[in-house]
Amino acid sequence: MITAVRKLAGAGRPVTSPGVTTLAGLEAEALACVACPLHAGRTNVVFAGGNSTAGLMFVGEAPGRDEDLAGEPFVGRSGKLLDRLVAEELGIDRTGYYIANVVKCRPPANRDPLPTEVATCRHYLESQVELVDPKVVVTLGNFAARTLLGVTEGVTRLRGKAYPYAGRVLVPTFHPAAALRGGAVVVSQMRADLVRAKLLLIAP
Ligand code: SF4
Repeated sequence: MITAVRKLAGAGRPVTSPGVTTLAGLEAEALACVACPLHAGRTNVVFAGGNSTAGLMFVGEAPGRDEDLAGEPFVGRSGKLLDRLVAEELGIDRTGYYIANVVKCRPPANRDPLPTEVATCRHYLESQVELVDPKVVVTLGNFAARTLLGVTEGVTRLRGKAYPYAGRVLVPTFHPAAALRGGAVVVSQMRADLVRAKLLLIAP
């Protein structure tokens, strides 16, 4: 089943935001967005962080409290763990990768984004992928992998291999929050996934 979905996901191109041709234009649109109910509870729209010219892009789920307050993705404990693992396994900091979430506004009490919220917001992410044009996309957690691959499997089943996605390659791994909860085993699996991403990044 996963093989069939991989073919479908790899064959299609993302639907991009109509009429937007630059990241700055896309960000301006997102910062003013009130298209789904999540806009009502946000402090900031969390559009993205890192380097928009990088060949590596991370995709998470949604901003949490720290991110909502800062207007930056992955700035809390999860983000610090991600930064450390990426530095240790790939030797880069945020000047070496781009990072964004599936939805750009914080869900109340950090609940999961609703399917309608993901459906409304996903064009921003898909346009970011198109405009940044990374060689490798690493999804963090279930939501990002399911959204981009169009599958229902969880990351535990999906991780351990790479998938074609819109003319590039996608490596699923755990959300760093899961690594904070899951301890050494999950951290070690995340490290292995990051090494997989690194090898794909440097491959000719
Ligand atoms: S979550 Fe996305 S679609 Fe909803 S208001 Fe924020 S930017 Fe707009």
